[in-house]
Amino acid sequence: MRHLDRNNIYAAGDITALAQPKLGHIAIIQGEIAAKDFMKSLGEDIDVPAYEPEVFCIMNMGGAEAIMINDNTLFGGERSVALHSPLSKVMKWGFDNYLYYNRGHMPPEWALKLTDKLTEML
Ligand SMILES: Cc1cc2nc3c(=O)[nH]c(=O)nc-3n(C[C@H](O)[C@H](O)[C@H](O)COP(=O)(O)OP(=O)(O)OC[C@H]3O[C@@H](n4cnc5c(N)ncnc54)[C@H](O)[C@@H]3O)c2cc1C
Repeated sequence: MRHLDRNNIYAAGDITALAQPKLGHIAIIQGEIAAKDFMKSLGEDIDVPAYEPEVFCIMNMGGAEAIMINDNTLFGGERSVALHSPLSKVMKWGFDNYLYYNRGHMPPEWALKLTDKLTEML
């Protein structure tokens, strides 16, 4: 997230030179790291989270069908979950609407943690 040669340049999201999937979910993870590292460099007493990328996508499949994928095997992890269920459709609908009506802001932390718990249970 930080330029290798220039300490005062950060990047997050699709613009990074990392040879990894270009995903909104990964952009958010990188953005938090870049922002916190920058705050730390300004003297804030703040922990910079480790970079633990994962794929998290929910794809609409028409009608009431959708599939949610949560996978970190590409990055050396062991989680590989695919949920083809109306629940995935509800999650996609909820996420899309939240983003739309909140001008692109991410859902609250508790909702993201709930999603993590759900994928851990699968
Ligand atoms: C069809 C499609 C489906 C996708 N589905 C998923 C999915 O299901 N899950 C997922 O995680 N990811 C998905 N992605 C990928 C995801 O959208 C991107 O990875 C994510 O938006 C990257 O975020 P970003 O902030 O890095 O870049 P962007 O969202 O592209 O933001 C960059 C912004 O910079 C602006 N900009 C560009 N040049 C300038 C300039 N010179 N001055 C000022 N502003 C500028 C652009 O207008 C843009 O608003 C999908 C992408 C596409 C195209």
